[in-house]
Amino acid sequence: MVRVRFAPSPTGLLHIGNARVAVFNWLFARRHNGAFLLRIEDTDLARSEKKYIDQLIEDLHWLGLTWQEGPDVGGPYGPYLQSERLHIYRDICQRFLQEGCAYRCYCTPAELEERRQIAKRTGKPPRYDNRCRNLSNEQRKALETSGLNCTVRFKVPEELLVFDDLIRGTCQFDMSLVGDFVIMRSDGTPSFHFAVAVDDILMKITHVIRGEDHLTNTPCHILLFHALGQKPPHFAHLSLTMGADRTLLSKRHGAFSLSEYHNMGYLPEALLNYMMLLGWAPKDKRDKFTASDITDTFEIGTMSKASSVFDQQKLNWMNGQYLREAEIERLVNLAIPYLQAAGLVSADDNAIDRAQLRLIVDAVRNNISCMSQIAQEANIFFKDVVISKQHIEFLSSEITQSILLSFYHELCKRNILSPDIFKDILKTVQKETKVHGKGLYLPVRVALTGREHGPELYGIANILGLDTCKKRIERFLLIRKQVTL
Ligand code: GLU
Repeated sequence: MVRVRFAPSPTGLLHIGNARVAVFNWLFARRHNGAFLLRIEDTDLARSEKKYIDQLIEDLHWLGLTWQEGPDVGGPYGPYLQSERLHIYRDICQRFLQEGCAYRCYCTPAELEERRQIAKRTGKPPRYDNRCRNLSNEQRKALETSGLNCTVRFKVPEELLVFDDLIRGTCQFDMSLVGDFVIMRSDGTPSFHFAVAVDDILMKITHVIRGEDHLTNTPCHILLFHALGQKPPHFAHLSLTMGADRTLLSKRHGAFSLSEYHNMGYLPEALLNYMMLLGWAPKDKRDKFTASDITDTFEIGTMSKASSVFDQQKLNWMNGQYLREAEIERLVNLAIPYLQAAGLVSADDNAIDRAQLRLIVDAVRNNISCMSQIAQEANIFFKDVVISKQHIEFLSSEITQSILLSFYHELCKRNILSPDIFKDILKTVQKETKVHGKGLYLPVRVALTGREHGPELYGIANILGLDTCKKRIERFLLIRKQVTL
């Protein structure tokens, strides 16, 4: 049975690049009816925080991912927090020491740094020179009694290590360039390499799917697998995601973490769809699809070797597509907090006119790319319009004034306003003024909303209602007088 894992380190908010690794693990597990695990790599005790674990679990759930084993759901191979598995790593480390495939190293960080600098200056690989590997018993005892803290290092054989990557094909590493690496730090916590390899074995992981930034770590993990008498899992290293400037996606590129996208009111299914396109595309090349649509056809081997570029505009476009199709009630619920924060609707949910809000959200959903833009886009329905100087000039021209006047007279003849009535009114105004198309709509739109663009005019008038439309036009009928006075 296929078993894959997502293994984030909870040292910050889960970002798009990392979450994408989770998505492809999850897809792979679904494709093969396997298990998807969440393992928290929190052995860096100083930098790991519980709040980031809680947040990443919330974010992944929001995105629509579920896992069969993990710190929140348990499972047969737990615990799933590495900080709760320290005894396991220590036991295995002891075994390695006894078997002679690992040894204690007494080199201090300052010494190691100095040797790294020398290696750099002399053009040598900055690897550990293995000097503690062959200490005599006397030397070791002397170092121990001098009270120096020690790490434990794994003996790396000087060999050519070859493995097949499901995406990258055959990969080769000359292990003579890699010094003996640390498996246990001096504070008794395992190194990243050690904890990963031990857990992948004990959690029976069959496929390790992770970012390409881990490719050079893989040979070390394979050596540990061998030392533990296990066949290594299959590996698939996903290309990385870049920003538009082709540098690794980071905070500099704007919104970055899943929770930021959540807070900005992106729909999770749109973000998930977009993330599935980062480095992969379905055979028919369509952009819009759900995970279920592609479960049967997803092949990890068809993922791109080249890095993908995160395109915010495409994500906005994608989110816009999903916003247009979403259930209106769902969008109303999503809109309310943003409208409340902007003071446009009551803070008391029960006092909100949901029927009216439904019309408003429906009118503006085509004009926003995420829900947090709703307050800005919809404030024309809640607040008096503020007209810019440039629009005042525009609205006070002779032709515009005659359009507004005719429009106003027609409004006054009516008792109610509906999209159809509004269309009739515009037809009459067109006949009277002989202005049509944009020349006619624009003054009406600017007078009603203070903007040149926005939702469909019929819908706007319908939502504003007869009285508000009249009031807003009235204001601008006086402008000419004010300007000419
Ligand atoms: N904890 C590692 C990271 O966050 C993942 C290691 C792995 O997937 O093997 O990059």
